[in-house]
Amino acid sequence: MIIQRVVLNSRPGKNGVPVAENFRLEQSTIADTIQAGQVRVRTLYLSVDPYMRCRMNEDTGSDYLLPWQLSEVADGGGIGVVEESKHDNLAKGDLVTSFNWPWQTVAILDGSLLQKLVPQLVNGRLSYFLGPAGITGLTALLGIKEKGHVTLGANQTMVVSGAAGACGSLAGQIGRLEGCSRVVGIAGTDEKCSVLVQEMGFDAAINYKKGNVAEQLRELCPGGVDVYFDNVGGDISDTVISQMNHNSHIILCGQISQYNRDVPYPPPLPPDIEKIRKERNITRERFLVLNYMDKQEASILQLCQWIQEGKLKVRETVVEGLANIGAAFQSMMNGGNIGKQIVSVSK
Ligand code: NAP
Repeated sequence: MIIQRVVLNSRPGKNGVPVAENFRLEQSTIADTIQAGQVRVRTLYLSVDPYMRCRMNEDTGSDYLLPWQLSEVADGGGIGVVEESKHDNLAKGDLVTSFNWPWQTVAILDGSLLQKLVPQLVNGRLSYFLGPAGITGLTALLGIKEKGHVTLGANQTMVVSGAAGACGSLAGQIGRLEGCSRVVGIAGTDEKCSVLVQEMGFDAAINYKKGNVAEQLRELCPGGVDVYFDNVGGDISDTVISQMNHNSHIILCGQISQYNRDVPYPPPLPPDIEKIRKERNITRERFLVLNYMDKQEASILQLCQWIQEGKLKVRETVVEGLANIGAAFQSMMNGGNIGKQIVSVSK
């Protein structure tokens, strides 16, 4: 059977900025028949995520991520529909997902590695299983629960960087649902800041590309910062940490501002900021959502309930066509979208 697929065309280099041309669309073939235990699936949605930048390097720098190989098909979070099944628990028409979905139109996959999806849980918005009801939502919720020390009634102020991105936009809302009394976002455009405040219930948002972030933060967080959901690292994080209270907590979710640089993960803080962190007993433990998969099922149900109740507002940008996945990745790495970026493969 003839299919379309996207392979890694070239590596950006450890210190390079990834571009759409690092990926290549090509025609390929898959077997016409499937074996026992396998299913043939048609791809519906694919996710592009910042961690994929590490997979573009020959050495990903982490023990849980394998590098993509040149001229080999790329993969990541995906959703599709079963077209043919020789797996006992899956039937034609089932909707399924995997963290390692190949970037191709049709694929033959091991049925035991797929999870069945129930679209009613997300009001029929299937792509949400790659965002707010998938790894992105889990990252925001479990990051806060495991590392945030958020306590109802404790009058805590939370700051979120990368706040208009997929994780950040959910993290601020979940911080509020879990009990923070004040939530302030940091994002890169006025439009993003306005969506955070008008749609997503953040108390305030700072455009870090305009004006003085430290001053605005002091004004907007007069009692200091108790919980910092850090998606970006670098200068923004140094500024936030300088205004954190004693015994406060950093949720070390990601450091996207450092991903095009050859630095260890997590990057160490500059000495003056590390001194502040230690003196004030601010925690900054590594957080990896994949370490909490025993909590996946219950957490997804919680996220779906909030979505159904309208308590979690969701924004996603859907790019049409497998041919555009490289451009979607480039745009996502440049902060080009609000919320989760998804590629629809059906058209
Ligand atoms: P995303 O949707 O692309 O959002 C990232 C946001 O960061 C963008 O909105 C972007 O917009 C901002 N940003 C990009 N470059 C920046 C820079 N140099 N300085 C400041 N801000 C910048 O990505 P996501 O899926 O939400 O992921 C967010 C972070 O979570 C990433 O670091 C990712 O690696 C991490 N993550 C961690 C786990 C885990 O298990 N720990 C799991 C999933 C994701 P603006 O610049 O316009 O604000």
